[in-house]
Amino acid sequence: MSLHICSTISALREARKRASTKGSVALVPTMGALHKGHRSLIRAAKERCHTVIVSIFVNPTQFGPAEDFTQYPRTFDADCSVLEEEGVDILFAPSVGEMYPAGASTFINAGEIASRLDGASRPGHFRGVATVVMKLFNIATPDVSFFGQKDAAQVAVLKKMVSDLNVPVQIVVCPTMRDPDGLALSSRNIYLSSEERENALALSRALNVVNSQAKGNILSATELRQTLLNELQKTPTLRIDYAEIVAPDTLLPTKNIYDGALVAVAAWVGKTRLIDNLLLPSRNEAVQ
Ligand code: AMP
Repeated sequence: MSLHICSTISALREARKRASTKGSVALVPTMGALHKGHRSLIRAAKERCHTVIVSIFVNPTQFGPAEDFTQYPRTFDADCSVLEEEGVDILFAPSVGEMYPAGASTFINAGEIASRLDGASRPGHFRGVATVVMKLFNIATPDVSFFGQKDAAQVAVLKKMVSDLNVPVQIVVCPTMRDPDGLALSSRNIYLSSEERENALALSRALNVVNSQAKGNILSATELRQTLLNELQKTPTLRIDYAEIVAPDTLLPTKNIYDGALVAVAAWVGKTRLIDNLLLPSRNEAVQ
């Protein structure tokens, strides 16, 4: 079956209604400029669900006034080819006016968690993310929705929203896809010059060093965080936004990593802000 493109909410609802007679429905929300990270989410969705809906929407409410909303890469035709190649059933690609008609004024406030990590440096970001994802859930009513571990704070905020508001959707989190040299795939990587791309490798390199230390039985989050900072500072052109070791579900700093921890980094490479993270397993899981 070829890709069915819906640009209006009513068209998507119709397509969704037809799909529900056939089995479970997956939603993979994206902002487009699709890469192998998005493909991995789609493949996970196809494995689990009968019908896969992908949304492409560059959501203005999650960008700050000085951020890259207008420059964000928009590659609609190439994205459609990717979706066709991956055998996606339905693409939901609404306009800004369709999603936010004049006068729309209701937003999701996820509380304290939305002001941690990226929420601290991008005020209002998670209000925008939670609102658009809630709208997508209400429009597409998926059984399962797929998100990337790459955006670990987003995952924490959305899981909390789904739990707090009893949203009837299951969230599946897929591992971060990387280039062979370790750089986490991101639609924003196209902003990087070759020299900046080289410097950007400092993020995954630093996380790898922390990973080795954690495997070597260093459990102190303070010690591991110091390693993280030291490693990142070896690349002086990198401007660290945050480098934290937190509990993955609350995003609050943790003292030790015994019960598992999220090692999360955000840094500016030139004008591009990149994020990456490492999820350390709980020792109970790790020792098998
Ligand atoms: P975006 O289009 O950047 O908003 O991302 C859409 C979805 O793809 C989000 O759930 C992201 O976490 C996920 N994603 C982005 N980059 C990666 C990656 N490198 N590996 C796995 N998932 C990713």
